[in-house]
Amino acid sequence: MSLSPTQPPQNQPPQNQPPRGPDIALSYELFPPRNASARGPLWRTIRAIEQTHPDYVSVTFGTGGDNRTEALELLKELLDTTTLKPLAHLTCLGNTVDEITAMITEMLGLGVRGILALRGDKDKALPLAATPALNYAEDLIRLVRTVERHNTARLAAGRLAIGVAAYANRHPESPTELQDVEVLLAKEAAGADFALTQVFFDPRAYENLLTRARRAGVTIPIIPGIMPLTVPRRVARISEMAGIEIPAPLLDKLSTSDDAARRKAGIQATTDLAQAALDAGAPGLHLYTFNQYQDSLDVLDNLNLSRLTRVTAPQLRAV
Ligand code: FAD
Repeated sequence: MSLSPTQPPQNQPPQNQPPRGPDIALSYELFPPRNASARGPLWRTIRAIEQTHPDYVSVTFGTGGDNRTEALELLKELLDTTTLKPLAHLTCLGNTVDEITAMITEMLGLGVRGILALRGDKDKALPLAATPALNYAEDLIRLVRTVERHNTARLAAGRLAIGVAAYANRHPESPTELQDVEVLLAKEAAGADFALTQVFFDPRAYENLLTRARRAGVTIPIIPGIMPLTVPRRVARISEMAGIEIPAPLLDKLSTSDDAARRKAGIQATTDLAQAALDAGAPGLHLYTFNQYQDSLDVLDNLNLSRLTRVTAPQLRAV
């Protein structure tokens, strides 16, 4: 499905469609606060998204562990003071096996039961740590499963959930999209349970990823990562970082100098993108919040998700 002018207006569920069931997974991405003044917006976001009863919230981790302390603190606070279940991002580039083993063990000790196993970005991991090192996310998945085995008693014989990154648009270092899918298959074979996608702007990219992945034999859920398309500067930055072109119609919609009109257009474009991903068979939605809740919740308001009927928009806005 493409971005289409025939979409229902904002704040109205699509006509003639039953509400999506509670089986649609819902999650949000948060990042640890960079300074004391960032804590306020973060915690307002945490309290607001808590009311939507997400399945989990993911907490980012700087490549090389440069925000290790802040990430662990946020994970601990989420576990100790909220009802949210954290999924801890963990990168392997730039750290030794011993350092990463200690990190996983510390996370388990806090009560973390889900890890998003990532390689990390090359340019952010310099200087690289001494060997032995883990080169790819696949190596990290194996290490997480090894640490898990050593902690079986602590986990009451349960398993950790391991998520991985997937790419609707080719990863900048991959020669082909086919390689991305082969890597995803290898990550599943190494022990990954589910995948979250990098940001994408065209729903066909996500749909094509699903088709390629299933043909290649990937069976794990591939959950689309949806970024609110309301702040053009941010959209441009992420597009550059991820090496993804912004479609001209989206640029057009966001080009108005009227702030309210631009935000409305951005929310609608994000709603259309999320709806199209669900229509393509997405098993859930992972919302990149940038530690702000209003845009994500407005997009959810627009989607016909029955799991959210317990919460009303005015209640959320009162947070
Ligand atoms: P990999 O799966 O290891 O792939 C990296 C590259 O190596 C790809 O080009 C792949 O094709 C290639 N490759 C993989 N295996 C092999 C192999 N065996 N042989 C040859 N080539 C191979 N970054 C952060 O620093 N912190 C975060 O918190 C963070 N969160 C993220 C969350 C999501 C949902 C996503 C999608 C990305 C996130 N990233 C984060 C960015 C991520 O670290 C980068 O995209 C990174 O460049 C690749 O990570 P990966 O786990 O996909 O790596």
